[in-house]
Amino acid sequence: MELNPWATVDIQDYDELFEKFGLEKIKLIPELEKNVLFRRGIVMAHRDLDKFLGAVAKGKPASILTGIMPSGPMHLGHKMVVDQCVFWQDSGVKTRVLIADIEARLTRNVMPPDAKRVALEEYLANWIALGLDHTKTDLYAQSNRSIPYYDLSATLSGRITLAEMSAIYGSLSPGKITSAMIQASDIIHGQLPEYDGKSNVLVPVGFDQDPHLRMTRGLAEKEGFIKPSSTYHRFMTGLEGGKMSSSRPNSFISLNDSVDVAMKKADRVLTGGRVTLEEQKKLGGEPDKCVVFELETFHFMPDDKELADLKQKCLKGEIMCGECKQILKDRLKKFLENLAVKREKAKDTVVGLDVFR
Ligand code: SF4
Repeated sequence: MELNPWATVDIQDYDELFEKFGLEKIKLIPELEKNVLFRRGIVMAHRDLDKFLGAVAKGKPASILTGIMPSGPMHLGHKMVVDQCVFWQDSGVKTRVLIADIEARLTRNVMPPDAKRVALEEYLANWIALGLDHTKTDLYAQSNRSIPYYDLSATLSGRITLAEMSAIYGSLSPGKITSAMIQASDIIHGQLPEYDGKSNVLVPVGFDQDPHLRMTRGLAEKEGFIKPSSTYHRFMTGLEGGKMSSSRPNSFISLNDSVDVAMKKADRVLTGGRVTLEEQKKLGGEPDKCVVFELETFHFMPDDKELADLKQKCLKGEIMCGECKQILKDRLKKFLENLAVKREKAKDTVVGLDVFR
């Protein structure tokens, strides 16, 4: 299995990733148990998370860094990174969020005016509506950072060969190489004396982004920086099964979908129900194969007891999929309505932010 930050990756067997790429399983500690994504094993792997947590516990300088790719609609799959970011920010960790406008231009052909609009209105407004405190966030666009940041990117480019990059990323274009070196600078530059100085950084990502982390950790070590830490979350299943993909609108619920559109998509969500009601009452449903249950687990049922009760009822055939899906739809509708109100307010905020040139 290959991981590719520029393509949709379908992961069938997460265990294979641990072996192949040397990732570690997350061990829960009380601090992490406070967050539903950690508690439920959705954020499931890491590199050096223990070192990051140790630095935070000792009051050493530490930050989290994550990025916004201003391309395509923001959907529930993207929300997982925001939820983690808000969790770390609420825990008092310094937060840095980059807008990957250079990467969007080089690898997805998104040009500056569109990148700016999508980043601010489609993404950042939703991030703020989901709880990001922009006043406590070091927010920047890749095209509008400091000279030391670009210097670092150039320095790092000279510290790796094309063969080494190809071994990590597979096939590369000049645009992807530039983009990867800018990303390496995104992750490391907080350790420059112009920023926080030598410090721990944690990057929460999906597994597809691991090549960036593997390359950047090697470069950080070569240049005498602290190797960045990272966490990895599972991917969401597409609404109708298979991969969730930004190019297939019916595979995801966008945070900007109207309630009507979202309800129609929810009607088509794949369940783990049996062929007939009779069979389901007798055998129970299959929540582990059910996208309705996954949506509740990842986003809409934060109460663990409620989720466990739903699973038991499903397994015993005490609840049918129609009733269960209606519970999801009610929550989804409420969530989207609340989010829309907060997002409209946030749009007034984002236009005034000094992020782009
Ligand atoms: S009852 Fe609910 S959780 Fe069980 S299979 Fe049907 S939709 Fe999924």
